[in-house]
Amino acid sequence: MYSFYAWVCDFIFPLRRLGIRQYSTFFPLLLTTACAVLLEVYAYQIAHDPEIVGLFAIVVFIGLIIYFSFRDGLKGGFITSTLTISYYFYIIYTRNYAGQQLETSIETTLVLAVVYFLLAGIIGWLKQTVDVFIEREADERRRLARIIEQLPVGVIITDHKGHITQVNDRLGQIIGMDLPNDYDVTKLKAKPLGSAESPELSALHFLATVLSTGKAVPRKEFTLSKPGGKTVYLQANAAPVHTTSGRIMAAASIVSDITPQKEMEKRKDDFVNMASHELKSPITSMKLYIELLLNKVAPGTDPQTRKIITNIKLQVDRLQELVSDLLDVSRLQTGKLHYKKEMFNLQKMIEQTITELQLTTTKQSIEITRTVSVNVYADRFRLYQVLANLIANASKYSPTGSKIEVQVKRKDNQAVVSVKDYGIGIAKDQQTKIFKRLYQVADTTEKTFPGLGMGLFISKQIIKGHNGTIWVESKKDQGATFYFSLPLAEYV
Ligand code: ADP
Repeated sequence: MYSFYAWVCDFIFPLRRLGIRQYSTFFPLLLTTACAVLLEVYAYQIAHDPEIVGLFAIVVFIGLIIYFSFRDGLKGGFITSTLTISYYFYIIYTRNYAGQQLETSIETTLVLAVVYFLLAGIIGWLKQTVDVFIEREADERRRLARIIEQLPVGVIITDHKGHITQVNDRLGQIIGMDLPNDYDVTKLKAKPLGSAESPELSALHFLATVLSTGKAVPRKEFTLSKPGGKTVYLQANAAPVHTTSGRIMAAASIVSDITPQKEMEKRKDDFVNMASHELKSPITSMKLYIELLLNKVAPGTDPQTRKIITNIKLQVDRLQELVSDLLDVSRLQTGKLHYKKEMFNLQKMIEQTITELQLTTTKQSIEITRTVSVNVYADRFRLYQVLANLIANASKYSPTGSKIEVQVKRKDNQAVVSVKDYGIGIAKDQQTKIFKRLYQVADTTEKTFPGLGMGLFISKQIIKGHNGTIWVESKKDQGATFYFSLPLAEYV
């Protein structure tokens, strides 16, 4: 509560009035007049020597001028100076000075007037300039606070020690609770991210990480059960705020509610999952009927019909691959892709795969250029899927007659497989994006290639599921080499 004592202090002490541009007229007028009257009345009780009284008066009035210039700027300083000089003339007039004494007194008073006004002018101007700066800064801070308040995302700002200095209302709405102001976010350091105990404080946890590491935490997603029981999906970013000398002066976190997007994504995933499940059975039946039909039309009897049926079979195979990719993507999304791991010889498996794939294409020749015998502990079918996808891509994106080179190497405790082609290549800025779900390079020349952008996403997830890595080295128009590495069986 604003106490009377605080009010008195704010009224009297000039330092506490810095930044306040309300300059008083009445107070300097009253106090200076009061001092002059008191001096006039009690002059002879202070000292009997008029020179000492005069000196005393000068000290008192200089003090008043400094005080009021500091407290009330130019206005305060000039009012006090004017009253002081007027009082000096009053003394000269009432004491009936004459001749030399009168002249000296007037001269001294005029010199003092110049000094007083100069003093009042300098101090008053400085005070007003500082006030303008402080006010401008306060305005800026208010403007920023207002903007933060209006933002559609939750914002938390802490000082360099981790104490919350600002939280906007939106954050309270998002996390369903009000954060205590001055809360020390560094207290959360020891707790795991989004811990069940206090998941609503994850955004604060990011701030603690930022303050302790000095590095930004980009886009982290987490779920939160709100007090009413509703689960929401949140996304938070946190970043340090540095001074010009590079010291951390604050940390800021932005929290947004991404529940609507997540729900929409989930609905889409559910639909894809359901649709691919529904499509699987009729496609399997179609394949069976086509096989039956092919068996019925004996080779050589009706080549035209046989060719048509073979083409239909190829298209249905393609359809089956697409549906199976869709199912895999949706299994990966829901964490339902399980691996049947076993130990096998990777080199042999790759040789078999290449022989098999070479039968399906005459466009390029697939060659093993270097190989070592290594054992891995992995899901054979899923690794076949990865290799088949890399080779299919190499074939799809390179010209007829070119070579596709496959290598198996051993590097430390890893097996490294590479698939090299001499095709259109991939620009540097696309090289990480191609492993994202449904991503295809949007290039007019490549638009003619069919595909849905699922293959590399699935491959990446499968390799990740085997504690391996997948990457590409390529330059636009200079072919591409895809690599994946897996831990050797003895190191799993
Ligand atoms: P898609 O079904 O489109 O081939 P992928 O996920 O397998 O989906 O590949 C994603 C994108 O990566 C492709 O659309 C293509 O632009 C690029 N890409 C993949 N492999 C190669 C390659 N060997 N050479 C050039 N571009 C490739």
